[in-house]
Amino acid sequence: MGNDGGSIPRRIELVKEKQKDIRLNPDLERLAAWFHCALSKQPLEPPIVADALGKLYNQDAVIEYLLDKSAYGDADKICSHIHSMKDTTKLNLTPNPAYSEAATGAATMGNLEQDIKARFICPISMKEMNGKHRFVYFDTCGCVIAEQSLKEIPSKECVTCGKPFENENVIVINPQKEELEGMKAAMEAKKAKAKAAKKAKKAAKAAMPESDTSGAVSPPKDKKRKHHSESPEGPGTPKKLNTSGISSSSAAVVMSKVAQELAEKHKKQELSSAVKSIYAKKDVKGNYLTMGTFNRYA
Ligand SMILES: [Zn+2]
Repeated sequence: MGNDGGSIPRRIELVKEKQKDIRLNPDLERLAAWFHCALSKQPLEPPIVADALGKLYNQDAVIEYLLDKSAYGDADKICSHIHSMKDTTKLNLTPNPAYSEAATGAATMGNLEQDIKARFICPISMKEMNGKHRFVYFDTCGCVIAEQSLKEIPSKECVTCGKPFENENVIVINPQKEELEGMKAAMEAKKAKAKAAKKAKKAAKAAMPESDTSGAVSPPKDKKRKHHSESPEGPGTPKKLNTSGISSSSAAVVMSKVAQELAEKHKKQELSSAVKSIYAKKDVKGNYLTMGTFNRYA
């Protein structure tokens, strides 16, 4: 720090020097990105989330931003692509056992020449998450590991939690500027894919009532919304929208179950209206009674 002459620098001198460094030194910019929320610029504190471009945020800051887009002045430059918490992934980070001892040093960035103790490490290689090593996260499970560990263990399942992933689920944390364009394109492609899947789901949903119910009462709107995309052939065959991720296929199974239940319900409704018509022939009072139970059931 240039205080080898024996003089003890006052704090104000050190702080001035630090500020100049941050602006001029891209390495320090990188360090800031690994230790601070991209939005609030506060030190990263769990729960920490990451976006599709590999930026790190304190979850609270993102929530605040979503509630009030003007909460942070430069937010449009940083995270205009975040429209809901779904555009972020909550990270599953491995604490660095060596962190607590050096906690104060890490927090202030006072001694930048020294190694700043990172708060998190790669659970496989034990490498510190300090910006000196490349790290990735899976947007399927949020686990964070060093990129090298990912390369060394060729697997299609997360080495930390076992959840399957595809290449498109691997997001580089704080990527190089050159990588950013590619990541943006990947993000847009993924969004378009999700949108198309949603559209297909909607179309299948719209086609459903005509195909399986002829003239019967259509299910209530909110129940309909829960339907997953069903092929017109009928429920029971979950349509594979996304080959990756166990969550989407298991969701499809759940959705098809819901659809089956609804179809079952339709049959019962038809049955109960048949019963109702029998009573209607007998007397008017009975008809009203069954109408009541029918409505309550529906
Ligand atoms: Zn995982």
